[in-house]
Amino acid sequence: MKWQSVYIDGSWVRPEGAQTLTMVAPSTGAEIGEIARGGAPEIDAAVLAARNAFEGAWGQMAAVERGRLLTRLGQAILDQEDELTELEALDTGKPLALARGDIRACARYFEFYGGAADKVHGETIPFLQGYQVMIVREARGVTGHIIPWNYPAQMFGRALGAALAVGNAAVLKPAEEACLSVLRLVELAEEVGFPPGAINVVTGLGEEAGAALSNHPDIDLLSFTGSPEVGTLVQKSAAENHVPCVLELGGKSPQIVFADADRDAAIKTSVAALVQNTGQTCSAGSRVLIERSIYDEFLAALAKQFKTLCAGSHDKDLNCGPVISKVQQERVLGFLERAKSDGIEIAAQGQIMTDEATSGGYYVPPTLYRMVPRDHELACEEVFGPVLAAIPFDDEADAVRLANGTDYGLIAGIWTESGARQMRMAKAVRAGQIYINGYGAGGGIELPFGGFKKSGHGREKGLEALKEFTVSKTVVINHG
Ligand code: NAP
Ligand code: MG
Repeated sequence: MKWQSVYIDGSWVRPEGAQTLTMVAPSTGAEIGEIARGGAPEIDAAVLAARNAFEGAWGQMAAVERGRLLTRLGQAILDQEDELTELEALDTGKPLALARGDIRACARYFEFYGGAADKVHGETIPFLQGYQVMIVREARGVTGHIIPWNYPAQMFGRALGAALAVGNAAVLKPAEEACLSVLRLVELAEEVGFPPGAINVVTGLGEEAGAALSNHPDIDLLSFTGSPEVGTLVQKSAAENHVPCVLELGGKSPQIVFADADRDAAIKTSVAALVQNTGQTCSAGSRVLIERSIYDEFLAALAKQFKTLCAGSHDKDLNCGPVISKVQQERVLGFLERAKSDGIEIAAQGQIMTDEATSGGYYVPPTLYRMVPRDHELACEEVFGPVLAAIPFDDEADAVRLANGTDYGLIAGIWTESGARQMRMAKAVRAGQIYINGYGAGGGIELPFGGFKKSGHGREKGLEALKEFTVSKTVVINHG
């Protein structure tokens, strides 16, 4: 596998220096393979290959043909669903059922954008007598994508589906912690007929391959999903090169539960929205804000559900798997230790179910905290683990203040039966997606998605992503 991880201009390439990185299965802590440690020379070659593809066969392909290739890739992914599911679950530790959902979502991205490829229409503008004005949308050119480890296959679909549909040629740097499904997806792309250079992948470290990609002067657009810290670095590099960027940097998304809510539904969804992918979801519902008049009762019922949660190996298909790595495990456990020393009370904790084979895995108990102070890190910072903070609010104005009271603004769930309040809250809460009486962490390929504030900017998913990955050109014709 190790020399099958850097894919440039239609071939697997052994990087200069021939160094490798070890891949680990989070469920057991065991080594499962090696990938190549690509760096600046490979990024240079990948960007050049993408530029040539954009100016050559790929860039000149009719939209309908591009769409067909994407659709074919979607079908190939569905045809290989079992194999990809197992690979994704092994590599990330996520329970098999979730991994299967991710592979289907990946296929769906290519189906959705395959169908959209020939529907990117322009506009005309009434102007002076004797003129015709058109606005045409063109591909940006070479797009650079840096993706995280939490949803490798879905991120591959999300980034490349939209970018390729409109004719960009792409260079993608997956996360070193999890990229096996991405490498298989690249093989499938080749099999269905994507021409050399349309898709290039360079594995390696963020500080090396990632930085080389974000610093590259011949990129026309950067898309990044990951931590706010690295997002800032990527944006600085983009600024140096005057390159636009789309950033998706996580959140501290709330479920806002009013006294008149359907409590059973709100509880079920609050648990599901947090434990999905063991809390390692940018749009995880990691805060539950509860109207004070129902706080005790609601929290007791939520705690009862929470106690039933189990974390274990991906193949056991429990509520949670392990977190991605030892580093992340220590990071999340650090939040739990600090909460303890700050005297924050645990309302409920799930169980870890391991055996001899999985005792070296990176597990964290699903944990619900009660009465988390509004300024505590559990209420404000992204834990990226199965940790839920319950916080009471007094009234609607207070709920808005609390919901908007972090640096983030990615998504929000609002639970109330009052139609007028649903509308007021949807307008007042600053987040890229608002769900009323529901929640969709990560789902919904059709639904534009992105942040306010530190959650990032730009929109991916849906038809909206096609705007990000294209640029408009105004053509003014003086026809007399
Ligand atoms: P990260 O460092 O931001 O990694 C995201 C991607 O950026 C990876 O592909 C990474 O490569 C790459 N990268 C790292 N340093 C880079 C640099 N200097 N220049 C360009 N690219 C670089 O995230 P992480 O360390 O994996 O996780 C840390 C925290 O970020 C998590 O605890 C969580 O809070 C947050 N996070 C958020 C999301 C999200 O979906 N919003 C996803 C993941 C993490 P390598 O991994 O190969 O180094
Ligand atoms: Mg990292």
